[in-house]
Amino acid sequence: MQMATAEEKSPTPEAALQKRVLIVDDALFMRNTLRDIFASAGFSIAGEADDGVQAVNLFRELKPDLVTMDIVMPYKSGIDATREIVQLDPAAVVIMCSALGQESLVMEAIEAGATDFIVKPFRGEDVLAVVKKVLGH
Ligand SMILES: [Mg+2]
Repeated sequence: MQMATAEEKSPTPEAALQKRVLIVDDALFMRNTLRDIFASAGFSIAGEADDGVQAVNLFRELKPDLVTMDIVMPYKSGIDATREIVQLDPAAVVIMCSALGQESLVMEAIEAGATDFIVKPFRGEDVLAVVKKVLGH
């Protein structure tokens, strides 16, 4: 009988490659929706923030692979938070979560360094399609 080796017990490559996401939105419902979408797709939720100040602090602390960023939030907008995050890490991947009618704010966010955007209300597959595009797999 052959014994299991240590190598066979090591974490799977899939687990090692699990991407960590920081979810930023002042609406609890949106954070919950995004958390469910990412968790069901195998992502790890690094953290959640409900304003732009907390978003920048958590980005600095957690170094997530991906950030979803609401635009209109108290204390600091998603646009200003994105600008600061990209200054901290020019390779940061930030996906803006906009609403219909916020096209000019989305343009401003892209100029501030956001990678891409999704428009609320969205379906899980819409979010994951954009994520797949920006993360390259
Ligand atoms: Mg908001």
